Amino acid sequence: MRPMPRSLPDGRRLGAHLPVAGGAVAAAERAHAIGARTLQVFADNPTAWRRRAEPPNDLVAFRERLAALDVGPVAIHASYLINLAGPDDEFRKRSVQVLASELRAAPGFGARFVNVHIGSHRLTGLDGGIARVGEGVARVLAEVDAGSEAAVLALENSAGGGGGIGVSLDELEAVVESIASHGGDVARVALCLDTAHLWAGGVAIGDDESVDALVDELDTRVGIERVAMIHLNDSKSALGSRLDRHQHLGAGEIGVPGLRRLLSHPRLAGVAYYLETPGMDEGYDAVNVARAYAIAAGEPLEELPPEARTMRGGRARGGPRASPDSPQSPG
Ligand SMILES: [Zn+2]
Ligand SMILES: [Zn+2]
Repeated sequence: MRPMPRSLPDGRRLGAHLPVAGGAVAAAERAHAIGARTLQVFADNPTAWRRRAEPPNDLVAFRERLAALDVGPVAIHASYLINLAGPDDEFRKRSVQVLASELRAAPGFGARFVNVHIGSHRLTGLDGGIARVGEGVARVLAEVDAGSEAAVLALENSAGGGGGIGVSLDELEAVVESIASHGGDVARVALCLDTAHLWAGGVAIGDDESVDALVDELDTRVGIERVAMIHLNDSKSALGSRLDRHQHLGAGEIGVPGLRRLLSHPRLAGVAYYLETPGMDEGYDAVNVARAYAIAAGEPLEELPPEARTMRGGRARGGPRASPDSPQSPG
């Protein structure tokens, strides 16, 4: 069944993180089939240090399908192993290499964004972690050419568990400043706000007033135009719980009013939205795309079947995977 063509206010784009295990072209087709206007993918195995020797052989066809179907801007979710903020030098060196390789791979995928978790100080102290992230990002950017094809590096906020950095707006502002103070070109750096992480990190976004306040504060701290991506997820865990648990839209603790304001706030009109909700491989990609459009339009949501509540996936590393051979559930 082909869904009704739907849209979001101001022509903003909504997509989903989709598996490329069946080929990148199939992911582009799937995005179109479920009414998504963009998509996010892994460029390589997100839980292995080893990078593939050659890019996938269907990338030319992938870019052609994206153009023909008008699907984009594509985002690449970088490897989960990357941690630029940790205290181990060897680990950080490898993180710089892998993140640089993700950025180099981006033009092949026609990707405008490479999204990476800001990282964890591993409980060694926030200030040192922020300094290391700034230094690491500056090094990555120096290693990758800044041509017209170059992807923007979108830093993702953290829910705050395990020393994750980028929980509060204070921290996000400090990270951007740290990159600049280490000589990094912050014009190539954006933010990706994961709504489930905001919520678990204690940032209230459950109604118009709190979303409006967040937008104002983002503008003051980092400039609202720096927010390029939103990972649109409801949260299974409570406000401030620091537990990263994604939920189907409108079925979690954030709820419909806050998500609706996030999808329609005029100052977020330039943002691309990507779902990382549960059950992406079990057909809930289509369900949550439809729910996002319904939420934005102020329409009532259909009841989710009981099994939807216990669905796995759509959560951070270390968690269960959507499929055993090809982890496809981004944090
Ligand atoms: Zn997450
Ligand atoms: Zn995310």
